[in-house]
Amino acid sequence: MSQIRSIPLHRTLPLVFIGLFLIGALLLTTLEYWQSSSSLKTHEQQELRSQLNLLALPVRRALESQRVDELNALIGSLATHPANDVIAITDDRGSILVSSRYAWRGKPIGELLPEADDLIATQNGTTRLVDVAHGYLAVNSVDYYTGGKGIRERHRALIWIRDNLRREQRLIMYHALRHASWLFGLGLLGMFTLMYLGGRYIARPLDELARYAARLADGDYTATPNIAGKGEIADLAAHLQHQGQRIASTLEALKESEEGLSVTLDSIGDAVIVTDTRARVTRMNPAAEELTGWPLEEARGKPLLEVFNIINASTRKPAVDPVQRVLREGIVVGLANHTALISRSGAEYQIADSAAPIRTPDGEILGVVMVFQDVTAAYATQQHLRETHARLDALTQALPDVCLLLSSEGEYLEIFGGDPRLLSRARDELLGRRVSEILPELNDELMRVITDTLRSGEQQDFEYALDLPIGRRYFEGRTAPMQDGGQPAVVWLARDVTRRKVAEAGMRRLAHYDPLTGLPNRHMLEKQLKQAISRSKRSGGFGALIFIDLDDFKQINDSMGHQHGDKVLTLLAERLKSVLREEDMIFRFGGDEFLVLLEQLDDEVVQASEFAEGIAEKLRAACTRPVELEGQPLHLSLSIGVTLFPDADTSLDNLVRRADIAMYRAKETGRGRICFFSAGLQRIAEDRMRVQHELREALERDELKLFIQPLVGASGAWLGGEVLLRWRHPDRGLVPPDAFVPIAEKSGLINTLDQWVITNSIQRFAGEAEKPLPEAFTGLSINLSCPMLMKANFTAQLRDWLRDSRLDGSRLEFEITERLLVEDYAQTAKVMKKAREFGVRFSIDDFGTGCSTLRYLQRLPLDRIKIDRSFIKHLPARHNDAILVETIIDMAGHLGLETVAEGVEDETQQRFLAARGCNYFQGYLFAAPMPWEEFFRRLRAERNGETP
Ligand code: C2E
Ligand code: CA
Ligand code: CA
Repeated sequence: MSQIRSIPLHRTLPLVFIGLFLIGALLLTTLEYWQSSSSLKTHEQQELRSQLNLLALPVRRALESQRVDELNALIGSLATHPANDVIAITDDRGSILVSSRYAWRGKPIGELLPEADDLIATQNGTTRLVDVAHGYLAVNSVDYYTGGKGIRERHRALIWIRDNLRREQRLIMYHALRHASWLFGLGLLGMFTLMYLGGRYIARPLDELARYAARLADGDYTATPNIAGKGEIADLAAHLQHQGQRIASTLEALKESEEGLSVTLDSIGDAVIVTDTRARVTRMNPAAEELTGWPLEEARGKPLLEVFNIINASTRKPAVDPVQRVLREGIVVGLANHTALISRSGAEYQIADSAAPIRTPDGEILGVVMVFQDVTAAYATQQHLRETHARLDALTQALPDVCLLLSSEGEYLEIFGGDPRLLSRARDELLGRRVSEILPELNDELMRVITDTLRSGEQQDFEYALDLPIGRRYFEGRTAPMQDGGQPAVVWLARDVTRRKVAEAGMRRLAHYDPLTGLPNRHMLEKQLKQAISRSKRSGGFGALIFIDLDDFKQINDSMGHQHGDKVLTLLAERLKSVLREEDMIFRFGGDEFLVLLEQLDDEVVQASEFAEGIAEKLRAACTRPVELEGQPLHLSLSIGVTLFPDADTSLDNLVRRADIAMYRAKETGRGRICFFSAGLQRIAEDRMRVQHELREALERDELKLFIQPLVGASGAWLGGEVLLRWRHPDRGLVPPDAFVPIAEKSGLINTLDQWVITNSIQRFAGEAEKPLPEAFTGLSINLSCPMLMKANFTAQLRDWLRDSRLDGSRLEFEITERLLVEDYAQTAKVMKKAREFGVRFSIDDFGTGCSTLRYLQRLPLDRIKIDRSFIKHLPARHNDAILVETIIDMAGHLGLETVAEGVEDETQQRFLAARGCNYFQGYLFAAPMPWEEFFRRLRAERNGETP
């Protein structure tokens, strides 16, 4: 379509006007001139014809009459006509007869008027006209006759008129020009008027309109067109202005929304990049600038991937361009995991992003907006969390314990790893339920633990038992407070300690009951007696302790064998028990000794002793009937000692000793008797006082000697030695420690004794250690009594002794009894831990006779357990002992402790013990205790390859 062209009106308009007007004036003038000159010509032609016609007759007459003057007059009258230029009359030959121009007479007309010849040639008797310059040449013929009457001669004369219209034509021209100049003047006036009006009401408003439009185009929408009035231009201006205002307000709104958008984009923490449909960057916010390292001014127009350089963090290959996908598929695309952004400076960020198409309301895609953020830290945290989780998972999976998470209300929140058989229900059945539902009988206890844990913020230890499908299990639980989803919760770790509990229970039983007869043993006696004494002291009622000893049991044992001896003891125990009342108690004190405890006999001492005697009599009588042994009747007799309590000095030991003294008395006076304790029996006690006294002197007189008994390994090599005290009495010879150590313990002399043993041992051993000893030999062990260990400065002294002698503490071991642990666990543990710092080791002596629990052993820095020789003695025949020893060795192994068997006297014992994994042996089978010098001599001999 051809375009509509525009021209500059204010310049062109006047020119067009002037041009048009000039053309109009010229046309008018020409037309007028042409019309006037053509009417002039027509008129002239008619004039000429009429003149010629009018002349014809007079000319003929004049010619016939041959009156030349008349002809001249005729011509002269015509010549007055202003237009006539030349008038001539020619004869037959064409020569001029008369002419208005005198000089022409007689000349051929053809010479003077060149057009005349043609006219003469074509003369046909009519008037004819030809155009000549500035007029016409007209000719008419006149026939005339000359001669007389008879001979008449016919002539033909031609009348010629040539006119000249130049003057008239000039006149016409003049008129035409005069008209034209009028017209022109009027036209100019009109034109100026038009121009003025056009300029004022068209060109200027249009100009203004154009200027206004130009300002609009320049973006100045505040401008207003300076046009008033009515009409199309004013309308147009109003429309334009309206349009301008609309554009202005649209632009304002646009600007506002653009600013809003910019502020929004700039203030969101996420990075945003917008691209066009060719995936070229069109905008990005500061967060995106920072992450990519590209300022928007530089990035704008660049292909996205140049600015947004992403790779797969694991493979290091370029990642799929999300924008291309969005453009291709028109969907929202999220980035794959592990995407890393490489910034312009080369820094690498883990990012998460999504890209979405930007659409017009009609759905046309205008570009892509991509939103992403730096998740490096979050990613690292996540990674760390995952790993921690995995570690925790693995850990809890590997846990042999039950590990639970409980809410403050006792709800099972989570169950980790562990042995599922230790749970009361399947895991799924537990989760979301409460302890009160699952374990109603334990609810109070468990809830108390949970509450305590949460209230104190500290871990709680406790024990409980559950009846599970796999049997009754014992647990040692520990809780710790924690948070679960912001709520207080408790981690519950429970260790299955059933094995230990069962072993402990067994040991407790073994420790308190005699395995052979099933009667409570001396430990039970101690306990019960203590209580009975304090009860009787409170109530004032008298009780009695009866000491029973089977006469000649050693003989029975020796002649009939242990098995029969045991049988006899069992039968005896049954018979004794059968004569007692329900509330009376009978204990096996050891060997063939039994003790009966009678409480609340009477408030009167005489009555009470009578009652006691009656019962003692019943007991004695119970054994008068022989027992059947392999079909043989066996007669038994009992020696019985009785003592009453309470009394002025009814300490526990005293009481047993009194009953013992009384029994001894009964035996002395001839077996099968009953004897009551009397003051006279006190003498024996006095003997002990003497021993004490002598012992003090013995220390001064250097009568005490150190003996050593070796500890051997499975191969028989001497691996250690136990220091044992001997008293070389001037009268009584070598006195064993059992004869004076208990006395020394009671008198407090034991500290001096122990100190003597320890310092002497350390000193001498340090001296021995200066010379080489067998490598396998670990060192010496020293018996430590209870009072010594309790001495406040014991560890300080020990440190000094070790320092002074320069003996390595690790070469020394102390043997302590279980009793110590039970009596003052805290102090014992403290001393042990302190002494441990010097390298000194500890072992438990006479293990199995005390009441120590495994829990103590587990927590103390112990190295060895010495199984009491009373359990070794009857191995392997005595089943109960065998089980006990086996249990002790097994358990010690679990606790990481070594075992020493004491009193190994024969090879069957050693084999039995070795097969159970016992580490060391001590006993007459290898060597009896020997003097110090001898021990080290033999030890060195062993080193030199000789048998010790
Ligand atoms: P103990 O610590 O159990 O010492 C082991 C006892 O068993 C020693 O008796 C030892 O001679 C004896 N013995 C070794 N092998 C056999 C064997 O095969 N069969 C039998 N039946 N016995 C064996 P000893 O020397 O008479 O010591 C008795 C107790 O006196 C010791 O028992 C210990 O408790 C205490 N004692 C010994 N020396 C000291 C000491 O220096 N200080 C303290 N406080 N007590 C000591
Ligand atoms: Ca010992
Ligand atoms: Ca022992």
